[in-house]
Amino acid sequence: MEKIFYYAPTGDRLSNKSMATHWEHAIPAYRNAPHVWNVGGQDNVAVFLLDTGDGLILFDTGLNEEVFYLVIDRIWRAGFDPMDIKKIFLTHWHGDHSSCARLLHEMTGCEIWLSKRDEVEHQRFADSDFPMRVRPYTVTNFYEDENPVRMGNFEIRTRLVPGHTPGCTAFFFEDTDEETGKTYKVALHGGLGVNPMMKPERLAQDGYPEEQAHTFVRDCYELAKLPVDIALASHLNQANILPNIPKDPRDYSVFVADYAWGDVLINRADAVKEFYPEVYGK
Ligand SMILES: [Zn+2]
Repeated sequence: MEKIFYYAPTGDRLSNKSMATHWEHAIPAYRNAPHVWNVGGQDNVAVFLLDTGDGLILFDTGLNEEVFYLVIDRIWRAGFDPMDIKKIFLTHWHGDHSSCARLLHEMTGCEIWLSKRDEVEHQRFADSDFPMRVRPYTVTNFYEDENPVRMGNFEIRTRLVPGHTPGCTAFFFEDTDEETGKTYKVALHGGLGVNPMMKPERLAQDGYPEEQAHTFVRDCYELAKLPVDIALASHLNQANILPNIPKDPRDYSVFVADYAWGDVLINRADAVKEFYPEVYGK
């Protein structure tokens, strides 16, 4: 079997500078799982729409406010009404995931969820440019990993996965295709960016303990063992998504690949281990 999903390094294409001409980076809405669409509209950060049958959930909100129109357009094109958004689940507090949260909240009155730990970081860096400008947003709800969020046909479990930020969150749920009767295990790890944030000198500079990197490595190895049929990638390069977007936007079958979740997590853990040869060996 040819493995088409793997961690693909990025070039300048995904830098903030190149996004000044965001229309050159536009991509269509496409279905990633039976009731999950990527409506991010650009080739960098995903915005996943979950159709629960009782309103919509968004995982993350878009790269920056300039691409808000793409998000709204892609929601319509996927066949949904943006006003049905009830909850926003942020994978972590960074601006490239949270930038349109305030606009969406003002437009729809939806809730904005984050981990308690990342809300501390959100407040701490609210007025700075670290690691990039964060557009103001107000968190309305916090994840409780012991209490899954239930909405419509879905039960979504969360898990704190520190590393990329102290309060990154991973999401797990099952999604059934009524047409085929098949149920898929779906997962989204919210913080797989490791460069250069988890280098020892960078963690120290940002005021984080080195243990944060080791926790990330341990969690990746542990979570990689979980059976996952469809791994959602919060940055498209993190699973080499772009070349694999199907011509038929409704055909999610290409994304059913049970190796992808484990492969990418192990790849990211190994990338962090290279920063700490004295701990993990060369
Ligand atoms: Zn980030």
